[in-house]
Amino acid sequence: MIADLPESVSYFPLMGYGPELKAEQFLVLFEGQIVLSSTNSWLWGREEFTGYETSQAIVVGHLDSTVIGFAELRYLPEGYEVISPRQLLTMTSETTFGLLSHGLQILTSRKEHRFCGYCGTENMAEAGEWAMVCPDCGHHAYPRISPCVIVVVKKGDEYLLVQHNRHGKTSTMHTVVAGFVEPGEGAEMAVSRELMEETGIKVRNIQYCFSQSWPFPHSLMMGFHAEYESGELEIDNEELCFAGWFHKDHLPELPPEFTISRQLIDL
Ligand SMILES: [Zn+2]
Repeated sequence: MIADLPESVSYFPLMGYGPELKAEQFLVLFEGQIVLSSTNSWLWGREEFTGYETSQAIVVGHLDSTVIGFAELRYLPEGYEVISPRQLLTMTSETTFGLLSHGLQILTSRKEHRFCGYCGTENMAEAGEWAMVCPDCGHHAYPRISPCVIVVVKKGDEYLLVQHNRHGKTSTMHTVVAGFVEPGEGAEMAVSRELMEETGIKVRNIQYCFSQSWPFPHSLMMGFHAEYESGELEIDNEELCFAGWFHKDHLPELPPEFTISRQLIDL
């Protein structure tokens, strides 16, 4: 069982690399998994953390007045338990979601931008922002954020729900259509295109609802509602294994409550 922090704690992201700040508590990762401390907490105290070899260590923000760092270990210490970031998200508050989403994406960015994409020189962290900067040609590489659309389609009292191949054949969870925005495309255009490509249906009255950062590895999910206009369901077998209309009073198993797909359906 994970010992969690009280819900009342507030999280404030650090808007840039602060070389003067020293983390007092750490979220510790190993190969993308979160390593729990010796007391089963998802944050380690500085004393327990000191002495371990890290490949990445950054300060990402404050939980109330405590400075929080994220670090990646080179090896997993014996006897320590790991959980996936998704597991931690399922049991958390907005505070933890914000902290995880921010920290994981900054760590990813550090790994993706170790070298300059123009001249190949090793990049350095820039104080005051999250860019990695080339000391030779000055190129700035900012953390990548990938815009994605996700949409609930309504037809009278029914919703369009789908099952993705990536969730596996045994999964009973139903979710909604989602996809990346292509270069040159607006978000509403992406909604229309994704629905047509994946399910063969046309929609109207596309309405933006709200968004959610999704750190796997750097998506910004933009949530929409739309109304069915025309077309028969014809699924793209590469992406989906099922698509169907469900009455609002008889919905199948849905994604967990913290996900934007569930929040869009609940709305
Ligand atoms: Zn360069």
